[in-house]
Amino acid sequence: MPARREPPLTAARRLLPRMQIWREAIHREPELSHRERTTREKITSALDELGIPYRTCSGFYGVLGLLGEGRPGPVVALRADMDALPVTEATGLPFSSRIDGAMHACGHDVHMAALLGAGAILAERGRSIAGPVKLIFQPAEEDGCEGGALPFLRRGCFRDPKVDFVVGQHVDPAVPAGVVGLKAGPCMAAADTLKIVVHGHGGHASSPHQGPDAILIAAEIVVGLQALVSRVRNPVDPVVVSVGSIHGGTRHNILPDEVVLEGTVRTFRPSTRELMERALRRRVRAIAQSLGARASVDYERGYPALWNPPKETFRIEQGLRSALGGARVRELEFPVMGAEDFARYLERVPGTFLRLGAATPGRAASLHSATFAPPEESLEVGAAALVAATDTLQRSRA
Ligand SMILES: [Zn+2]
Ligand SMILES: [Zn+2]
Repeated sequence: MPARREPPLTAARRLLPRMQIWREAIHREPELSHRERTTREKITSALDELGIPYRTCSGFYGVLGLLGEGRPGPVVALRADMDALPVTEATGLPFSSRIDGAMHACGHDVHMAALLGAGAILAERGRSIAGPVKLIFQPAEEDGCEGGALPFLRRGCFRDPKVDFVVGQHVDPAVPAGVVGLKAGPCMAAADTLKIVVHGHGGHASSPHQGPDAILIAAEIVVGLQALVSRVRNPVDPVVVSVGSIHGGTRHNILPDEVVLEGTVRTFRPSTRELMERALRRRVRAIAQSLGARASVDYERGYPALWNPPKETFRIEQGLRSALGGARVRELEFPVMGAEDFARYLERVPGTFLRLGAATPGRAASLHSATFAPPEESLEVGAAALVAATDTLQRSRA
């Protein structure tokens, strides 16, 4: 049995072979959002092995582990997401996905195995654990609309005992492996989806004067949306509007009745989010009307922006520096325009979201790519970072 207060990184190194087994088993059988049944079984059997009590609920694949029940310190929740993506794996790893068209291309396999590793380290402390720790294994993060955090919160994952702080992490190929990145304030963007339908007048392409051309209007809209980004919002407040798909028409000499555009809108401030939605609806309608057509706009709010509270983020940064060594901790300069439903937890309690280094020399794969393969080092540093953050938050009362 190891010493009770073994440094987190030493403990994580000792547990690495176990974390690798968990990670590889999860990685081999990836499951898409809302279908994480087998993944849940793997997590509950690992928790059984570790002697960590947990709860599950019917009709939802989340797992909630609980350590140190009744201990006096603040309650810390640690969260990992569980779902995979519809990507066919091309990493060549010996534990590659066995499921055609599904892959852990966003590193959630690493998040789960690192959280199990952190749970194992904290469980070894037995009664000397400073306070209760909840292990939140959350499905459906990639879903993008309702996600998995909101349904889990509705099912009471932050109640009984009430959570005081929350910590999560995501692998990041822009941060060197072995390093943990932190950033106070705006960290990840709000993500809204956009669907525009342009109603034109179909007919022979040789007679475009006979009615509004939906293709031309769609092109004007794509350009007009970028003018909103550059001329409506404050230039020091980041915004992205991207049109990711355009569908219209069947062949070269027929003008279609209708063109459908789909896109995403990313913002940080709630007031900017409001501004962009209002301005975008107005601009799309105005462009269509000015060319004699009509356009409908369907604007759906997705995850809110993720803001790391400065007080807890700085405190955790200090804690990580002393537990892991300064060379393993980096203050990040920029937020990212990606979105995360971890933001839902931070809307309720303070904490932080860490960016776990996953850059590997010679592999430049990005998240969601078929060749993304975070290295083993991410597992041990991820588990150690979660334990060190928990220790820091439980040293001072909520
Ligand atoms: Zn993802
Ligand atoms: Zn992800």
